[in-house]
This record gives sequence, C-alpha cells and structure tokens, in this order.
Amino acid sequence: MLFYDQHCHTQLSFDSEASPWDYAALNLSVLTFTEHLDLDNPVTGGQDDIPNFNQTITWQETFVKDYNSRLLLGVEVGYAPGQADRLHEVMAPYDFDLKLLSCHHNLRYDYMDTAADSNQLDEPTVMMDQYVAQLLEAVEAFPDVQILAHFDYGFRVHALSDEDVIERYGQQLTEVFKRCIANEIAFELNSKSIINYGKLNLYRWAIPLYKSLGGHLFTLGSDAHKVEDYQMAFAQMKDLLLEFGVEEVVLYEAQQAHKVALKELQFES
Ligand SMILES: [Zn+2]
Ligand SMILES: [Zn+2]
Repeated sequence: MLFYDQHCHTQLSFDSEASPWDYAALNLSVLTFTEHLDLDNPVTGGQDDIPNFNQTITWQETFVKDYNSRLLLGVEVGYAPGQADRLHEVMAPYDFDLKLLSCHHNLRYDYMDTAADSNQLDEPTVMMDQYVAQLLEAVEAFPDVQILAHFDYGFRVHALSDEDVIERYGQQLTEVFKRCIANEIAFELNSKSIINYGKLNLYRWAIPLYKSLGGHLFTLGSDAHKVEDYQMAFAQMKDLLLEFGVEEVVLYEAQQAHKVALKELQFES
C-alpha cells in the first residue's frame, strides 16, 4: 500500500521556499501540503501568516493534468492564546483533507527561539511550562483537527533531558494525549523532532503511553520544508512503531481516516 507524507511545506508557508513543482517531480500518486497558518507570528514581526489556499486549489488541477498526482488540501494550524475564533474563521471557507494542530509561538516569541532570535525570551523552564499549558488549550479549542503535530516542539531546543521533560511534564502531556484520543486526533511521529532534534527517547516514551491510553491513530510526517526531506526516515519510524506493537498507520482524505497496515507500507520516492 502506498503511503504519503502528511506533513510538508512549500513556498506558501512563511518559512519555506520549496517549489510545489519539486514535489510534483517526485511523481507521487497522492500528496499533500500542510502549510503554516500562524497568526500574529513573532517570527515574521507579528504578522498574520495565512497561506494562499486558493493557490493550492489551482495547483491541484495542474497536478492531476500534468503529473497524474492527486494533491490534497492540508493545513498546519498554529494555535496561540486567544486566536481560536480567528483561526476557525480563516479556515471556514475551505474543505481541508487534513488539519494538523501545532503550538509554535505564544505571541511574544516562537518556542524554538533562542537568545539570538528574540530578546523577549523567558527562562527555558518558563517557556516549556507555557508551551505545555498552551498545547492543552489548543487541543481543547480544536477538537476537529485530524493530527497533533510534533507534540515535543517546545522541548526541541532546550537543554532539559528527555527524562526531565517526562518527569516535569509527563502528567500534563498525558492529559493532552487523552484529549486527543477522545477526539480521534492522531499522534504524529515527526521526522524532524526525532532525527534533527534527537527526541527519539521522548517518542519512545510517548508512543506506548498514547497506545496504553487507548490511542490507535498514528501518522508519519517529515515536516519537510524542502523536497529532499520528503518522507525523511520513514522506514526507521515504521520500525519504531512495529517495535511497540503498533500495526497500522492512518492516512487522511476528506478528513476521513484510512488505516494502512504498517507491514504492507511502501514509500514512493
Ligand atoms: Zn510545526
Ligand atoms: Zn510543519
């Protein structure tokens, strides 16, 4: 069974310059772009970063015609405090195939900012405290998304060990997962977190936990911002899931979940 990467960005995201035609050239049967929707984004001087979804809809026609590919309409919704109504409003006109939910910033700084990026930073533990509280708020405000993206985003750049993260935030993260499971929101294995930011051990903690709480929806997302990262380390993440007795991953289209047996998974590239 063919599988597609459910976390990809192009030039329609504020932090990517990837051309959609580079992805098109991979000649995939199905693919999706999950562009960043981040309002009041401190990374871009507080502006509303709203992807041009109409552009994606235009691309969909060309993808079918010229590449025999079906391009699905995705979005990565970045939630920050007080934005739920505006975010829902921005998304309302579109029929998304899949919506990813993230917390990237708190209106003052991005949770991956370091001192070089912002002079408004708090102490790392204060940043992480806020991140986790915000994540819980996010899953409460957006029960209708399909995937929780990179649950570990707020821990990516800090020196706190994985063990200490689990010790300090384990209980709150458990609440986040319970809320996701109640709303059928899938758990994403994020290549960038696991490979680029070395958070494998956090995922080794979270996967069996999510499963033991009754979670059965898992997805793989590379978080590619350039085509070279498409389906990055998917074979490794597949093995990781198998190791924990997870037998299926889920693909979304028209917000419907389709389960795919991990053992039968093939990666197009
Ligand atoms: Zn993200
Ligand atoms: Zn992303």
